Amino acid sequence: MVVLHPAQADSGIIFARNGERVQGIAENVVETARGTTIGQNGSRIRTIEHLMAALHGLGIDNACIEVQGSELPALDGSSMPYVEAILSIGTVDLKKPRSLLRLKEPVYLRSNGSFILAVPSNQPKFTYVLRYEHPLIGSQSATCVLTETNFSRDIAPARTFVMYEEIAGLISQHLAKGGSFDNAIVVWQDRTSSDLRFPDELARHKLLDLIGDVALVGGRLMADILAVKSGHALNVEFARMLTEHISDGESKEAA
Ligand SMILES: [Zn+2]
Repeated sequence: MVVLHPAQADSGIIFARNGERVQGIAENVVETARGTTIGQNGSRIRTIEHLMAALHGLGIDNACIEVQGSELPALDGSSMPYVEAILSIGTVDLKKPRSLLRLKEPVYLRSNGSFILAVPSNQPKFTYVLRYEHPLIGSQSATCVLTETNFSRDIAPARTFVMYEEIAGLISQHLAKGGSFDNAIVVWQDRTSSDLRFPDELARHKLLDLIGDVALVGGRLMADILAVKSGHALNVEFARMLTEHISDGESKEAA
């Protein structure tokens, strides 16, 4: 279970579990295999990225996330259930100017054929390019100028996916037990486990993950970001690196 509480200005995104509070920032990430995990003093909170993306996409800079259990719920594999829950309650304007993080210069990072570049900009914009040697996927790209409307409509509904070959054994066990695929799209060579919500839903989901991971920089980064084939490991390393290249000063929007 997860409960989202309001938080004071400048508190940032805080995860709370068993009395332990962990700031949702890149330096607290302890693992990036199959999702982004933060932790401190032995406590672990797994798969925070879809909630981080929802908060960032809706322009929420301060919140306390109370988590029971070690993992955030997978829900339908997208950020949409979080977005709907947050919008149904509404947000509060904290009457304090939001501080915008600005890059001092372009920054890039590459590793094993994956690549991320951030260039200073007047608005947060994200682009993701995906390439799989796979008959159903091939190359896809997705772009989002980050506004509440664009994020909620174009990116939040995109669900996570898994290649059948990666988890073939688990899938047959799961199906044998009468399970279904409610929280991920399974991609076979010639079909998917459910109808796609967008033709390029997979690229859009990778973009969603990128937004959630880059949000770990700890604020609203005014940059144009292009990622090619990156995953959580590179995204989080990039967010860590960005913190050394930003000037936190100018404040002009209400938070
Ligand atoms: Zn994801």
